[in-house]
Amino acid sequence: MTAPTHCGREMARHGTVGRLLANGTTIAVQRYHCARCGTTVRVRPEGVGRQRTTEDERATMRRLRLNSGMSLAAIAREMAMLGVYVSIPTVWRAVR
Ligand SMILES: [Zn+2]
Repeated sequence: MTAPTHCGREMARHGTVGRLLANGTTIAVQRYHCARCGTTVRVRPEGVGRQRTTEDERATMRRLRLNSGMSLAAIAREMAMLGVYVSIPTVWRAVR
């Protein structure tokens, strides 16, 4: 994985954070830090940013929608907290 750039230079590795996926597996997300402006970003590992969601992930989104009445945007944020990065249209397709 190549480091992202920020403020015109490569960002430095800044530890990892564990992310629990909706399917129950945990992944290590690499954090990067910009020495110039102090911005910290998280870069998900290869393969995690796929567009397709698993049936488990779609079931989680439907549960959030039906049981918690969350908005599509709130569900997308909730899924991101679980390490599943989905767009609002993806959430919509999962819960409709
Ligand atoms: Zn920066």
